[in-house]
Amino acid sequence: MAAVGNVFNIERHSLHDGPGIRTIVFLSGCPLRCKWCANPEGLREKSLFVFKQQCTGCGMCVSACSRSAISIVGGKSITNREKCTLCGTCIMACPEGARRMYGEEMTVEQVINIVVRDAVFYRQSGGGMTLSGGEPFVQKQFAYDLLAAARDSGINTAVETCGAVPWEAIEPAVGLIDTFLYDVKHTDPEKHRNFTGKTNEDVLRNIRRLGDENAHIIVRVPLIPEFNDTAEELSAIAEVAADAGAERMDVLPFHKLALSKHDAMETHFLMEAAEVLPSERVDCLVQEAKKIFKNINIEV
Ligand code: SF4
Ligand code: SF4
Repeated sequence: MAAVGNVFNIERHSLHDGPGIRTIVFLSGCPLRCKWCANPEGLREKSLFVFKQQCTGCGMCVSACSRSAISIVGGKSITNREKCTLCGTCIMACPEGARRMYGEEMTVEQVINIVVRDAVFYRQSGGGMTLSGGEPFVQKQFAYDLLAAARDSGINTAVETCGAVPWEAIEPAVGLIDTFLYDVKHTDPEKHRNFTGKTNEDVLRNIRRLGDENAHIIVRVPLIPEFNDTAEELSAIAEVAADAGAERMDVLPFHKLALSKHDAMETHFLMEAAEVLPSERVDCLVQEAKKIFKNINIEV
């Protein structure tokens, strides 16, 4: 039993990722590198954030770092990410709370103890626990153990997955999951590779297999400019969703909330220059897609 896994956030009282009021457990690690990723801090086991607006340039972190990874430039601390070993010493040294590490080892028991705190809300709202990420099945044994522990506590379970993992990673968990929130990003393998780093072979195979298993699926489509923002592509994804027996397809419009995270991680947001689609344009695309393919409900 994998008693320990890597978690980069736990969000309570969420209304977004599955039915009712939920606790979202974000597991670190992902096989994809989507250009628009909203959670870049979840791609690796740990990520060091430096909040520049809080930094006074006092230099306490410079003295604390045994790797000489930090310097003060223009009155703010800059971290050399090549030298940094993510030891976390500078976080303790900073008097302003300007440094924070995302990603920590937690036991199944520690996570479930947080999840069960809101059991009364789950019962009243039809909510529960959602595993998200990153990609939860990257830490498959930890994910299975969390799902089994939630089930033992009578808690509804959902998993938000990109599907880009071997079927063997998903199969043992199928009976433990009430709802799959399943991302389908594009039906064309090469376009998928260009924007995510991998083709969609696993994604399309796994959703078919889940359909064969009669799993409860809600397909989610991040609507990304110059990637999948056409009625034809949305309708093609809708057909994949319908073939798998999905309850519905949710369209999630592109946003740039990851910009501030990249700023704190001193990395570059690859879609910084992309245009956020106006809501009227999103609605129009969805209406057009519904005309092309009518056999599934599409929501924004
Ligand atoms: S996490 Fe450790 S190695 Fe990295 S900058 Fe801070 S003190 Fe230095
Ligand atoms: S210790 Fe904190 S406030 Fe001081 S320079 Fe480092 S990050 Fe900035």
